[in-house]
Amino acid sequence: MSDTKVKGRLQESSVRIHNFEEVELGYNDEEAHEESLRCLQCINPRCVKGCPVNIAIPEFIKKIQENDIKGAYEVISRSSSLPAVCGRVCPQEKQCESMCVKGLKGDAISIGSLERYVADQAIINHFNQAEQKEKNGKKVAIVGSGPAGLTCAGDLAKKGFEVTIYEVLQKAGGVLIYGIPEFRLPKRIVKEEVDSLKSLGVKILTDVPVGNAITLDELQKEYDAVFVGTGAGLPKFMGIEGENANQVFSANEILTRINLMSGYQEDAKTPIKKGKIAYVIGGGNVAMDAVRSLKRLGIEAHIMYRRGEEELPARKLEVEHAKEEGIVFDLLKNPVRILTDEKNNVTGMEVVNMVLGEVGEDGRRSVSEDQDSLHFVPCDMIVMALGTSPNHEALKGSNIALTDRGLIVVEETKTSLDNVFAGGDAVTGAATVILAMEAGKKAAKQIQEQLLGEE
Ligand code: FAD
Ligand code: SF4
Ligand code: SF4
Repeated sequence: MSDTKVKGRLQESSVRIHNFEEVELGYNDEEAHEESLRCLQCINPRCVKGCPVNIAIPEFIKKIQENDIKGAYEVISRSSSLPAVCGRVCPQEKQCESMCVKGLKGDAISIGSLERYVADQAIINHFNQAEQKEKNGKKVAIVGSGPAGLTCAGDLAKKGFEVTIYEVLQKAGGVLIYGIPEFRLPKRIVKEEVDSLKSLGVKILTDVPVGNAITLDELQKEYDAVFVGTGAGLPKFMGIEGENANQVFSANEILTRINLMSGYQEDAKTPIKKGKIAYVIGGGNVAMDAVRSLKRLGIEAHIMYRRGEEELPARKLEVEHAKEEGIVFDLLKNPVRILTDEKNNVTGMEVVNMVLGEVGEDGRRSVSEDQDSLHFVPCDMIVMALGTSPNHEALKGSNIALTDRGLIVVEETKTSLDNVFAGGDAVTGAATVILAMEAGKKAAKQIQEQLLGEE
């Protein structure tokens, strides 16, 4: 049994920088089967403990070994309503795969790639999700159609609840649609998973800003329970001079305009004015998505990050892909002022070098500015990817309890308001798809217990 995983195929970097098509091509039948045979079928599988939604990993891999892909999909569907998404974007190396016993000596099993393979086969072959139960007469409203809301909706629909999702944007999927670029997560995949929820009877109302078109209070009166999964879509800025110049964006804005509004096409309603040299400030996954998207628009695209390569918070794989695509990494540098011309267009930045210090209490190395290093960096586009916080439009007029950081206070998933539950980034701050899904699942369970008095 090989200690080395079967490598998935990739689109060549010289080709992919000219298109938005998916970079990772996934396993074919033979590759998936070969990889599945590496799994030891552990009696006490550590991998399952690493999965926030506890997918029965050895069980679904066994089905692949037996060439029963429909069976594998049924196993995964018991725990996850978005397997084609998670197989692609879960940080597996920190979750299920980090716990796989095979990783102690060689490569862990490629659990994410196998999950993606099964989910893609389910889409191609129209395998259905678990059967719908008879309606139980209870109605639940879900605010926000990101992974938290979709998962909560799916789990409740499977238990016979009548579920309606309210979404402010024109398409359902949250960050999966407007944030994560097509080349990492094709929108047709998200649509397939959303459609499969609709086939369970979930109603999705788009273009409805809760807080304005309808209030939380009104939803509370109309429904037996409400789940709030409105995410953390409010971008942070640095607060430096010149940040309000033309051609300074947040990563969320640039990604939304590219993903949702095709803003890179000249006939788009709100076309992006493309620069020649763009700097994305930040070193996380969102920064990588933004910079790689800009590269695909033909722009010379740089990352500027105040710490070093070791400290980059983005997934290693994303950094590797970005480098292959020719992204320039300007590390240990920080902008202190944005410079503009008479029309308030960006002409460049004043930048200082940064010096790494000791590891602090938070486990990260401190950084300080080298005051003598101030220099000019020319550019005509700047994108801030410095993190986000929750936007609480949906909660307007309610007196729901929030933390000092503006996060919704919950006990498990119950908020301070009667029959109002919450989960995902709106509760934790910016996190991951699978953690949002885990919260959606927990909320569905608590809603069921509360409304039906049963588990
Ligand atoms: P969201 O996905 O943010 O969904 C919230 C939804 O609520 C949105 O659709 C929003 O429009 C809607 N909404 C907000 N206010 C209202 C209102 N008033 N009325 C109606 N609807 C409302 N995680 C990973 O695991 N892997 C990755 O590779 C990854 N990459 C990422 C890349 C980017 C660019 C970003 C921004 C995030 C990424 N994440 C990734 C993080 C992950 O996407 C989030 O943690 C996750 O989507 C949170 O899910 P959620 O359901 O809580 O919120
Ligand atoms: Fe791993 Fe994510 Fe799949 Fe769980 S959902 S098995 S953590 S890839
Ligand atoms: Fe298979 Fe690894 Fe899980 Fe063991 S820990 S069952 S080898 S995936």
